[in-house]
Amino acid sequence: MLRVEEASDRILAEIRPLAAEAIPLRAALGRVCAEDILATVTMPPWSNSSMDGYAVRSADITPVMKGEPVTLRVVGTIAAGEFAPKALKRGQAMRIMTGAPVPGGADSVIRKEDTDGGEQKVEIREARDVWKNIRPAGEDYHSGDLLAKRGTPVKPALVGVLASSGVGTLRVFRRPRVAIISSGNELVDIDAFDEVVASRRIVSSNSYTLDALTRVAGGEPIDLGIAADTRASLRRKLEQAGDSDLILTSAGVSVGDLDHTRDVFAALGGKQLFWKVKMRPGAPLAFGTLNGVPWLGLSGNPVSAMVSFELFVRPALRKMQGHAAVFRRTVTVTLEEEVKIAAKLTHFLRAYVTRKEDGTLTARLTGLQSSGALTSMARANALLIVPGTSPKVAKGAELKALMLDQSLEETSAFSL
Ligand code: AMP
Ligand code: MG
Repeated sequence: MLRVEEASDRILAEIRPLAAEAIPLRAALGRVCAEDILATVTMPPWSNSSMDGYAVRSADITPVMKGEPVTLRVVGTIAAGEFAPKALKRGQAMRIMTGAPVPGGADSVIRKEDTDGGEQKVEIREARDVWKNIRPAGEDYHSGDLLAKRGTPVKPALVGVLASSGVGTLRVFRRPRVAIISSGNELVDIDAFDEVVASRRIVSSNSYTLDALTRVAGGEPIDLGIAADTRASLRRKLEQAGDSDLILTSAGVSVGDLDHTRDVFAALGGKQLFWKVKMRPGAPLAFGTLNGVPWLGLSGNPVSAMVSFELFVRPALRKMQGHAAVFRRTVTVTLEEEVKIAAKLTHFLRAYVTRKEDGTLTARLTGLQSSGALTSMARANALLIVPGTSPKVAKGAELKALMLDQSLEETSAFSL
Protein backbone atom coordinates (compact mmCIF):
# COMPACT_ATOMS: atom_id res chain seq x y z
CA MET A 1 0.00 0.00 0.00
CA LEU A 2 1.27 3.43 -0.95
CA ARG A 3 1.03 6.57 1.13
CA VAL A 4 -1.29 9.19 -0.35
CA GLU A 5 1.59 11.50 -1.30
CA GLU A 6 3.46 8.66 -3.01
CA ALA A 7 0.39 7.68 -4.99
CA SER A 8 -0.04 11.28 -6.10
CA ASP A 9 3.63 11.55 -7.13
CA ARG A 10 3.52 8.30 -9.07
CA ILE A 11 0.41 9.31 -10.97
CA LEU A 12 1.59 12.80 -11.84
CA ALA A 13 4.96 11.44 -12.98
CA GLU A 14 3.10 9.69 -15.82
CA ILE A 15 1.06 12.72 -16.87
CA ARG A 16 2.17 15.24 -19.51
CA PRO A 17 0.46 18.38 -20.77
CA LEU A 18 -1.59 17.58 -23.86
CA ALA A 19 -0.93 19.03 -27.31
CA ALA A 20 -1.83 22.63 -28.06
CA GLU A 21 -4.79 23.67 -30.17
CA ALA A 22 -5.67 27.06 -31.63
CA ILE A 23 -9.09 28.32 -30.52
CA PRO A 24 -11.04 31.61 -30.65
CA LEU A 25 -10.17 34.05 -27.87
CA ARG A 26 -13.57 33.95 -26.16
CA ALA A 27 -13.46 30.15 -25.96
CA ALA A 28 -10.03 30.28 -24.31
CA LEU A 29 -11.36 31.47 -20.95
CA GLY A 30 -10.23 29.01 -18.27
CA ARG A 31 -7.69 27.35 -20.55
CA VAL A 32 -3.89 27.71 -20.31
CA CYS A 33 -1.66 29.48 -22.87
CA ALA A 34 0.50 26.97 -24.71
CA GLU A 35 2.94 29.59 -25.97
CA ASP A 36 4.34 32.99 -25.05
CA ILE A 37 2.22 35.81 -26.45
CA LEU A 38 3.95 39.07 -27.40
CA ALA A 39 2.21 42.39 -27.99
CA THR A 40 1.99 43.35 -31.65
CA VAL A 41 0.97 46.95 -30.93
CA THR A 42 1.55 49.59 -28.26
CA MET A 43 -1.25 50.41 -25.80
CA PRO A 44 -2.46 53.00 -25.68
CA PRO A 45 -1.26 53.77 -29.19
CA TRP A 46 -1.27 57.53 -28.58
CA SER A 47 -1.15 59.86 -25.59
CA ASN A 48 -4.76 60.43 -24.65
CA SER A 49 -6.84 62.40 -22.23
CA SER A 50 -8.16 60.82 -19.05
CA MET A 51 -10.66 63.69 -18.56
CA ASP A 52 -13.24 65.69 -20.43
CA GLY A 53 -11.74 69.19 -20.49
CA TYR A 54 -9.24 71.40 -22.30
CA ALA A 55 -5.83 70.42 -23.63
CA VAL A 56 -3.45 73.29 -22.81
CA ARG A 57 0.23 74.18 -22.58
CA SER A 58 1.38 74.44 -18.96
CA ALA A 59 3.48 77.51 -19.85
CA ASP A 60 0.23 79.35 -20.72
CA ILE A 61 -1.36 78.80 -17.34
CA THR A 62 1.42 79.70 -14.92
CA PRO A 63 -0.55 82.78 -13.70
CA VAL A 64 -3.38 80.44 -12.66
CA MET A 65 -0.99 78.81 -10.19
CA LYS A 66 -0.75 82.19 -8.47
CA GLY A 67 -4.53 82.53 -8.41
CA GLU A 68 -5.02 84.62 -11.60
CA PRO A 69 -7.43 83.09 -14.12
CA VAL A 70 -6.20 82.94 -17.73
CA THR A 71 -8.25 83.05 -20.92
CA LEU A 72 -7.14 80.93 -23.89
CA ARG A 73 -8.47 80.75 -27.48
CA VAL A 74 -10.30 77.49 -28.19
CA VAL A 75 -9.06 76.28 -31.61
CA GLY A 76 -10.92 72.99 -31.91
CA THR A 77 -12.58 70.00 -30.33
CA ILE A 78 -11.19 66.45 -30.29
CA ALA A 79 -13.53 63.58 -29.50
CA ALA A 80 -12.46 59.98 -28.95
CA GLY A 81 -11.84 58.51 -32.39
CA GLU A 82 -10.65 61.82 -33.87
CA PHE A 83 -7.21 63.36 -34.22
CA ALA A 84 -6.23 67.03 -33.86
CA PRO A 85 -5.35 68.43 -37.29
CA LYS A 86 -2.52 70.56 -35.87
CA ALA A 87 -0.44 71.19 -32.77
CA LEU A 88 -1.38 73.67 -30.08
CA LYS A 89 0.30 77.09 -30.27
CA ARG A 90 0.90 79.64 -27.51
CA GLY A 91 -2.31 80.96 -26.00
CA GLN A 92 -4.42 78.20 -27.48
CA ALA A 93 -6.55 75.42 -25.98
CA MET A 94 -8.51 72.54 -27.49
CA ARG A 95 -11.63 70.96 -26.06
CA ILE A 96 -10.90 67.31 -25.56
CA MET A 97 -12.89 64.22 -24.53
CA THR A 98 -11.76 61.21 -22.49
CA GLY A 99 -9.72 58.82 -24.65
CA ALA A 100 -9.11 61.37 -27.41
CA PRO A 101 -5.51 61.86 -28.60
CA VAL A 102 -3.80 64.80 -26.94
CA PRO A 103 -2.71 67.33 -29.60
CA GLY A 104 0.98 68.08 -30.11
CA GLY A 105 2.23 70.89 -27.90
CA ALA A 106 -0.27 70.19 -25.09
CA ASP A 107 1.07 68.85 -21.81
CA SER A 108 -1.95 69.16 -19.52
CA VAL A 109 -5.68 68.57 -19.65
CA ILE A 110 -7.68 70.90 -17.41
CA ARG A 111 -10.93 69.31 -16.32
CA LYS A 112 -14.05 71.07 -17.51
CA GLU A 113 -15.18 71.86 -13.94
CA ASP A 114 -12.11 74.09 -13.45
CA THR A 115 -13.06 76.34 -16.41
CA ASP A 116 -16.01 78.43 -17.58
CA GLY A 117 -16.71 75.75 -20.23
CA GLY A 118 -16.33 78.27 -23.08
CA GLU A 119 -16.47 77.24 -26.75
CA GLN A 120 -14.66 80.13 -28.50
CA LYS A 121 -12.58 81.21 -25.54
CA VAL A 122 -12.09 79.45 -22.24
CA GLU A 123 -11.25 80.80 -18.85
CA ILE A 124 -8.99 78.50 -16.81
CA ARG A 125 -9.73 79.06 -13.12
CA GLU A 126 -7.76 76.40 -11.32
CA ALA A 127 -4.31 74.88 -12.00
CA ARG A 128 -4.45 71.62 -10.02
CA ASP A 129 -4.39 69.72 -13.34
CA VAL A 130 -1.17 71.21 -14.66
CA TRP A 131 0.89 68.35 -16.21
CA LYS A 132 -1.96 65.99 -15.41
CA ASN A 133 -4.69 63.89 -17.04
CA ILE A 134 -2.61 62.61 -19.95
CA ARG A 135 -2.15 58.87 -20.30
CA PRO A 136 1.07 58.49 -22.25
CA ALA A 137 1.33 56.21 -25.28
CA GLY A 138 2.53 52.76 -24.20
CA GLU A 139 1.65 53.23 -20.50
CA ASP A 140 -0.04 49.79 -20.51
CA TYR A 141 2.34 47.91 -22.81
CA HIS A 142 4.67 48.32 -25.74
CA SER A 143 4.84 46.39 -28.97
CA GLY A 144 7.03 43.34 -28.30
CA ASP A 145 6.22 43.15 -24.56
CA LEU A 146 5.35 39.72 -23.14
CA LEU A 147 1.59 39.73 -22.51
CA ALA A 148 1.30 36.13 -21.31
CA LYS A 149 3.84 33.38 -20.75
CA ARG A 150 3.27 29.80 -21.78
CA GLY A 151 1.49 28.25 -18.79
CA THR A 152 -0.58 31.33 -17.90
CA PRO A 153 -4.25 30.54 -17.17
CA VAL A 154 -6.60 32.68 -19.27
CA LYS A 155 -8.71 34.91 -17.01
CA PRO A 156 -11.23 37.59 -18.06
CA ALA A 157 -8.71 40.45 -17.80
CA LEU A 158 -6.19 38.55 -19.94
CA VAL A 159 -8.92 37.96 -22.53
CA GLY A 160 -9.26 41.76 -22.66
CA VAL A 161 -5.51 42.35 -22.87
CA LEU A 162 -5.18 39.83 -25.70
CA ALA A 163 -8.17 41.34 -27.51
CA SER A 164 -6.52 44.77 -27.29
CA SER A 165 -3.46 43.31 -28.99
CA GLY A 166 -5.47 41.70 -31.77
CA VAL A 167 -5.15 38.09 -30.60
CA GLY A 168 -8.37 36.66 -32.07
CA THR A 169 -7.15 33.08 -31.90
CA LEU A 170 -4.64 31.62 -29.49
CA ARG A 171 -2.91 28.35 -28.78
CA VAL A 172 -3.93 26.68 -25.54
CA PHE A 173 -3.46 23.18 -24.17
CA ARG A 174 -6.16 20.77 -25.25
CA ARG A 175 -8.83 19.70 -22.77
CA PRO A 176 -8.49 16.05 -21.73
CA ARG A 177 -11.16 13.64 -22.98
CA VAL A 178 -11.99 11.40 -20.07
CA ALA A 179 -13.54 8.00 -20.76
CA ILE A 180 -15.81 7.03 -17.86
CA ILE A 181 -16.73 3.37 -17.41
CA SER A 182 -18.95 2.21 -14.59
CA SER A 183 -19.21 -1.48 -13.84
CA GLY A 184 -21.50 -3.69 -11.84
CA ASN A 185 -24.44 -6.00 -12.49
CA GLU A 186 -26.46 -4.07 -9.92
CA LEU A 187 -26.31 -0.84 -11.93
CA VAL A 188 -28.68 0.81 -14.40
CA ASP A 189 -28.92 4.28 -15.90
CA ILE A 190 -31.85 6.56 -15.10
CA ASP A 191 -33.76 5.44 -18.21
CA ALA A 192 -34.28 2.08 -16.48
CA PHE A 193 -35.43 3.64 -13.23
CA ASP A 194 -38.41 1.27 -13.05
CA GLU A 195 -35.83 -1.40 -12.12
CA VAL A 196 -34.79 0.83 -9.23
CA VAL A 197 -38.37 1.44 -8.16
CA ALA A 198 -38.85 -2.33 -8.19
CA SER A 199 -35.84 -2.62 -5.81
CA ARG A 200 -33.86 -4.76 -8.27
CA ARG A 201 -31.15 -2.27 -9.29
CA ILE A 202 -29.51 1.03 -8.25
CA VAL A 203 -28.65 3.97 -10.48
CA SER A 204 -25.02 4.27 -11.48
CA SER A 205 -24.57 7.56 -9.65
CA ASN A 206 -20.81 7.35 -10.26
CA SER A 207 -21.48 7.89 -13.95
CA TYR A 208 -22.92 11.24 -12.94
CA THR A 209 -20.52 12.33 -10.22
CA LEU A 210 -17.46 11.45 -12.32
CA ASP A 211 -18.94 13.31 -15.28
CA ALA A 212 -19.56 16.38 -13.10
CA LEU A 213 -16.13 16.27 -11.46
CA THR A 214 -14.49 15.92 -14.87
CA ARG A 215 -16.29 19.02 -16.15
CA VAL A 216 -15.39 21.04 -13.06
CA ALA A 217 -11.75 20.02 -13.59
CA GLY A 218 -11.85 21.25 -17.20
CA GLY A 219 -12.07 17.84 -18.87
CA GLU A 220 -14.54 16.53 -21.43
CA PRO A 221 -16.35 13.46 -20.12
CA ILE A 222 -17.14 10.60 -22.47
CA ASP A 223 -19.68 8.37 -20.76
CA LEU A 224 -19.10 4.81 -21.93
CA GLY A 225 -21.95 3.53 -19.81
CA ILE A 226 -22.11 0.52 -17.56
CA ALA A 227 -20.14 -2.69 -18.01
CA ALA A 228 -21.54 -5.89 -16.61
CA ASP A 229 -19.37 -7.84 -14.18
CA THR A 230 -18.01 -10.06 -16.94
CA ARG A 231 -14.61 -10.03 -18.56
CA ALA A 232 -16.12 -9.71 -22.03
CA SER A 233 -18.21 -6.69 -21.11
CA LEU A 234 -15.34 -4.90 -19.37
CA ARG A 235 -13.04 -5.69 -22.27
CA ARG A 236 -15.45 -4.12 -24.77
CA LYS A 237 -15.71 -0.94 -22.70
CA LEU A 238 -11.96 -0.62 -22.19
CA GLU A 239 -11.40 -1.08 -25.93
CA GLN A 240 -13.84 1.75 -26.63
CA ALA A 241 -11.79 4.00 -24.32
CA GLY A 242 -8.77 3.76 -26.63
CA ASP A 243 -8.71 7.28 -28.04
CA SER A 244 -9.28 9.13 -24.77
CA ASP A 245 -6.65 10.98 -22.75
CA LEU A 246 -7.55 9.34 -19.45
CA ILE A 247 -9.58 6.25 -18.59
CA LEU A 248 -11.62 6.21 -15.40
CA THR A 249 -13.24 2.99 -14.35
CA SER A 250 -15.30 2.69 -11.23
CA ALA A 251 -15.82 -0.49 -9.20
CA GLY A 252 -14.47 -3.99 -9.60
CA VAL A 253 -10.94 -3.16 -8.35
CA SER A 254 -11.25 -4.80 -4.98
CA VAL A 255 -10.97 -8.50 -4.09
CA GLY A 256 -14.53 -9.69 -4.76
CA ASP A 257 -15.12 -12.72 -7.01
CA LEU A 258 -16.55 -10.48 -9.71
CA ASP A 259 -13.87 -7.77 -9.46
CA HIS A 260 -12.42 -8.34 -12.94
CA THR A 261 -11.28 -4.84 -13.87
CA ARG A 262 -7.58 -5.30 -13.08
CA ASP A 263 -7.42 -8.71 -14.79
CA VAL A 264 -9.08 -7.49 -17.96
CA PHE A 265 -6.88 -4.42 -17.97
CA ALA A 266 -3.78 -6.64 -17.77
CA ALA A 267 -5.13 -9.03 -20.41
CA LEU A 268 -5.47 -6.07 -22.81
CA GLY A 269 -1.80 -5.27 -22.31
CA GLY A 270 -2.32 -2.62 -19.64
CA LYS A 271 0.56 -1.95 -17.30
CA GLN A 272 -0.56 -1.66 -13.67
CA LEU A 273 1.78 0.70 -11.81
CA PHE A 274 0.26 0.44 -8.36
CA TRP A 275 -2.76 -0.80 -6.47
CA LYS A 276 -4.05 0.35 -3.09
CA VAL A 277 -3.40 3.50 -1.13
CA LYS A 278 -3.27 3.93 2.66
CA MET A 279 -6.41 6.00 2.84
CA ARG A 280 -10.09 5.78 3.66
CA PRO A 281 -12.31 6.04 1.78
CA GLY A 282 -10.77 4.93 -1.51
CA ALA A 283 -8.05 2.42 -0.52
CA PRO A 284 -8.55 0.04 -3.48
CA LEU A 285 -7.25 2.48 -6.10
CA ALA A 286 -5.47 1.08 -9.15
CA PHE A 287 -3.28 3.06 -11.52
CA GLY A 288 -1.63 2.12 -14.77
CA THR A 289 -1.40 2.84 -18.47
CA LEU A 290 -3.13 1.15 -21.38
CA ASN A 291 -1.37 1.75 -24.71
CA GLY A 292 0.04 4.92 -23.22
CA VAL A 293 -3.29 6.20 -21.90
CA PRO A 294 -3.33 6.63 -18.10
CA TRP A 295 -5.98 4.62 -16.28
CA LEU A 296 -7.34 5.10 -12.79
CA GLY A 297 -9.39 2.27 -11.39
CA LEU A 298 -11.53 3.87 -8.71
CA SER A 299 -13.40 2.04 -6.03
CA GLY A 300 -17.10 1.74 -6.83
CA ASN A 301 -18.27 3.16 -3.54
CA PRO A 302 -19.81 6.50 -4.46
CA VAL A 303 -17.84 8.58 -1.94
CA SER A 304 -14.60 6.66 -2.47
CA ALA A 305 -14.78 7.34 -6.19
CA MET A 306 -15.29 11.06 -5.56
CA VAL A 307 -12.54 11.35 -2.94
CA SER A 308 -10.06 9.52 -5.19
CA PHE A 309 -11.06 11.82 -8.04
CA GLU A 310 -10.42 14.92 -5.95
CA LEU A 311 -7.05 13.69 -4.72
CA PHE A 312 -5.64 12.04 -7.82
CA VAL A 313 -7.70 12.60 -10.96
CA ARG A 314 -8.28 16.33 -10.72
CA PRO A 315 -4.56 17.17 -10.43
CA ALA A 316 -3.83 14.88 -13.37
CA LEU A 317 -6.48 16.59 -15.50
CA ARG A 318 -5.11 19.99 -14.57
CA LYS A 319 -1.56 18.95 -15.42
CA MET A 320 -2.79 17.75 -18.83
CA GLN A 321 -4.27 21.21 -19.40
CA GLY A 322 -0.95 22.88 -18.70
CA HIS A 323 -1.71 24.20 -15.21
CA ALA A 324 1.21 24.54 -12.80
CA ALA A 325 -1.10 24.90 -9.77
CA VAL A 326 -2.73 21.50 -10.03
CA PHE A 327 -3.65 20.92 -6.39
CA ARG A 328 -6.41 22.31 -4.24
CA ARG A 329 -5.29 24.19 -1.18
CA THR A 330 -5.59 22.82 2.34
CA VAL A 331 -6.56 25.07 5.24
CA THR A 332 -6.09 24.69 8.98
CA VAL A 333 -9.38 24.18 10.80
CA THR A 334 -10.47 23.86 14.43
CA LEU A 335 -12.73 20.90 15.14
CA GLU A 336 -16.23 21.74 16.35
CA GLU A 337 -16.60 18.16 17.56
CA GLU A 338 -14.46 15.15 18.43
CA VAL A 339 -13.73 12.90 15.45
CA LYS A 340 -13.02 9.18 15.55
CA ILE A 341 -11.49 6.89 12.97
CA ALA A 342 -11.42 3.11 12.92
CA ALA A 343 -8.21 2.25 11.04
CA LYS A 344 -4.59 3.37 10.79
CA LEU A 345 -5.13 4.99 7.41
CA THR A 346 -5.26 8.64 6.39
CA HIS A 347 -8.94 9.51 6.57
CA PHE A 348 -10.74 12.07 4.45
CA LEU A 349 -13.93 12.91 6.29
CA ARG A 350 -16.78 14.83 4.75
CA ALA A 351 -16.94 18.16 6.54
CA TYR A 352 -18.27 21.67 6.34
CA VAL A 353 -15.74 24.42 6.95
CA THR A 354 -16.99 27.82 8.09
CA ARG A 355 -15.11 31.07 8.58
CA LYS A 356 -15.87 32.65 11.96
CA GLU A 357 -16.10 36.41 12.62
CA ASP A 358 -12.50 36.47 13.88
CA GLY A 359 -11.30 34.84 10.67
CA THR A 360 -10.56 31.38 12.07
CA LEU A 361 -11.92 28.34 10.28
CA THR A 362 -13.90 25.64 12.01
CA ALA A 363 -15.03 22.26 10.74
CA ARG A 364 -17.91 19.95 11.54
CA LEU A 365 -18.74 16.62 9.96
CA THR A 366 -21.68 16.56 7.56
CA GLY A 367 -23.07 13.22 8.67
CA LEU A 368 -22.61 9.51 8.18
CA GLN A 369 -19.09 8.69 6.95
CA SER A 370 -19.96 5.39 5.23
CA SER A 371 -18.32 5.26 1.80
CA GLY A 372 -21.75 4.67 0.33
CA ALA A 373 -23.39 7.71 1.94
CA LEU A 374 -23.34 10.24 -0.86
CA THR A 375 -25.71 12.75 0.79
CA SER A 376 -23.09 13.65 3.41
CA MET A 377 -20.67 14.29 0.51
CA ALA A 378 -23.29 16.49 -1.14
CA ARG A 379 -23.47 18.60 2.05
CA ALA A 380 -19.68 18.87 2.45
CA ASN A 381 -17.46 21.70 1.21
CA ALA A 382 -14.23 20.09 2.38
CA LEU A 383 -12.49 16.86 3.22
CA LEU A 384 -11.16 16.86 6.77
CA ILE A 385 -7.79 15.13 6.79
CA VAL A 386 -7.33 12.90 9.82
CA PRO A 387 -3.92 11.23 10.03
CA GLY A 388 -4.17 7.56 10.90
CA THR A 389 -1.89 8.03 13.91
CA SER A 390 -4.52 8.10 16.65
CA PRO A 391 -8.07 6.76 16.85
CA LYS A 392 -9.60 10.06 17.86
CA VAL A 393 -8.97 13.78 17.68
CA ALA A 394 -10.46 16.02 20.36
CA LYS A 395 -12.93 18.83 19.87
CA GLY A 396 -10.98 22.10 19.61
CA ALA A 397 -7.91 20.44 18.06
CA GLU A 398 -6.53 21.66 14.74
CA LEU A 399 -6.44 19.60 11.57
CA LYS A 400 -6.05 20.30 7.87
CA ALA A 401 -8.96 20.27 5.48
CA LEU A 402 -8.92 20.11 1.70
CA MET A 403 -11.42 22.61 0.33
CA LEU A 404 -13.62 21.19 -2.42
CA ASP A 405 -15.16 24.39 -3.71
CA GLN A 406 -15.20 28.18 -3.49
CA SER A 407 -17.68 28.40 -0.61
CA LEU A 408 -15.15 30.03 1.74
CA GLU A 409 -14.51 32.77 -0.83
CA GLU A 410 -18.16 33.56 -1.43
CA THR A 411 -20.78 35.10 0.82
CA SER A 412 -24.42 36.16 0.69
CA ALA A 413 -23.59 39.49 2.37
CA PHE A 414 -22.04 42.37 0.42
CA SER A 415 -18.68 42.75 2.12
CA LEU A 416 -15.94 45.18 1.19
P1 AMP B 1 -17.28 -2.57 -6.00
O1 AMP B 1 -16.13 -1.64 -6.09
O2 AMP B 1 -17.69 -3.19 -7.26
O3 AMP B 1 -17.05 -3.58 -4.90
O4 AMP B 1 -18.52 -1.69 -5.51
C1 AMP B 1 -18.52 -1.10 -4.24
C2 AMP B 1 -19.86 -0.49 -3.93
O5 AMP B 1 -20.09 0.60 -4.78
C3 AMP B 1 -21.04 -1.41 -4.12
O6 AMP B 1 -21.97 -1.16 -3.10
C4 AMP B 1 -21.61 -1.01 -5.45
O7 AMP B 1 -22.97 -1.26 -5.58
C5 AMP B 1 -21.33 0.48 -5.45
N1 AMP B 1 -21.16 0.98 -6.80
C6 AMP B 1 -20.33 0.47 -7.71
N2 AMP B 1 -20.40 1.16 -8.85
C7 AMP B 1 -21.30 2.16 -8.66
C8 AMP B 1 -21.80 3.20 -9.47
N3 AMP B 1 -21.37 3.35 -10.72
N4 AMP B 1 -22.72 4.02 -8.95
C9 AMP B 1 -23.14 3.85 -7.68
N5 AMP B 1 -22.69 2.90 -6.87
C10 AMP B 1 -21.79 2.03 -7.34
MG1 MG C 1 -19.04 -4.51 -8.02
